[in-house]
Amino acid sequence: MSPVSHSAGVVSFEDARRIVAQHAARVLARETESVDLLSATGRVLAEPILADRDFPPFPRATRDGYAVRAEDVAEVTARLKLIGEIRAGDSSTSSVNVEQGQAVSIMTGAPVPSGADAVVMVEYTTQSRSTVEIKRSVKSGENYVPRGAEARQGQMLLDRGTRVDHAAIALAASAGESRLQVFRKARVAVLATGDEIVQIDDDPGPSQIRNSNTYSLAAQVQNAGGEPVLLSIAPDERVRLRALIEQGFDSDLLLLSGGVSMGKYDLVEQVLGELQTEFYFTGAQIQPGRPIVFGLCTLPERAGAPAPHIHGKYFFGLPGNPVSTMVTFELFVRPMIHALSGGAPQPLVFLKARLKSDVRAKTGLKRFLPAVLSGEFENAEVELARWQGSGDIAALAGANCYLVIPPDREQIGAGESVSVMMR
Ligand code: AMP
Ligand code: MG
Repeated sequence: MSPVSHSAGVVSFEDARRIVAQHAARVLARETESVDLLSATGRVLAEPILADRDFPPFPRATRDGYAVRAEDVAEVTARLKLIGEIRAGDSSTSSVNVEQGQAVSIMTGAPVPSGADAVVMVEYTTQSRSTVEIKRSVKSGENYVPRGAEARQGQMLLDRGTRVDHAAIALAASAGESRLQVFRKARVAVLATGDEIVQIDDDPGPSQIRNSNTYSLAAQVQNAGGEPVLLSIAPDERVRLRALIEQGFDSDLLLLSGGVSMGKYDLVEQVLGELQTEFYFTGAQIQPGRPIVFGLCTLPERAGAPAPHIHGKYFFGLPGNPVSTMVTFELFVRPMIHALSGGAPQPLVFLKARLKSDVRAKTGLKRFLPAVLSGEFENAEVELARWQGSGDIAALAGANCYLVIPPDREQIGAGESVSVMMR
């Protein structure tokens, strides 16, 4: 008896990404909170940030030199009368007006006075007491930014849904926003399964394994801008597993690790299938991570549970092998957490590097293999980490990226340019 629904099946990597993206586009983050500017890194704006005044608020000199009328220096050498000096922060410029034959000494960041329409760099000038010799012509508009050229007062600087990074922080700071309204972080329940798995501060028996997936997943959740909710370890036993899964649906998203393969005690799909669930895929043609499942639970709301974003809660059943768990998180879970936190999923970023030594692979699956990248720019080189398969966390910790092998390649020769996904 298989409770897994009709449409579910094993899909290509690209289809799996597309399916997750389609569902991610349906979720709607609603709850917001106010945070101070520095705590906003990685959060998503719930309100746009508007220019509180013109950017720049005055015509801003971008060079040290002399504010002039471009027509006065059309022919060089030109000799102009020096009528004053304007420093950055000077508020006296309103009284200054540059007339024909005149120049004002000006510093980077200072307001260009009226009358002047260009700045000549100091390098092309010689100053004597009250005159300045200009040795190079400038075009009107050169070396300053007109008032409001970057943004007009009231114009949107950052849209709702923007993920806040240091550049966004600079912009918010320059608009005087010391606190930002952001979406609440998505709460992501993490549920490790397996009879052999014990808590990290328990003494493991000879055939037991400490739970590392809950912690790697929690770290990845945090890194993706979510808030991990750590659940107890579920044994490979229906009743307890189901109770913990139901508890997981109190959060915005449920991540399970383990129990999704073909083993007799891999119960995750079955137990999920007993609930009000739909599966969107039950495998992806990737390695590691092939048994991954993705779906939605439309469990009726339990009393006291937080309101759902859509009509249910999404879940991912990730394979238990630690490397598979980590890779499948990056490929499929991260975009969903971004969406649940109010932002647009970000594209996966690949770079190109030269393969250091030959790689052989079986065809049919797209592979994301732990690898070591060294060198920069055109000298970037990559080689596979030596690993004992997808349980080898020690090898993964020594790697710094994944080498991507397309499903149709049996062999890639040393020296070939290959795709690398950073971690
Ligand atoms: P499974 O997907 O349940 O068949 O597990 C695959 C492999 O991953 C087995 O060797 C498990 O012992 C191991 N594993 C599963 N869950 C965890 C976990 N939470 N921490 C560390 N290893 C795990
Ligand atoms: Mg297991």
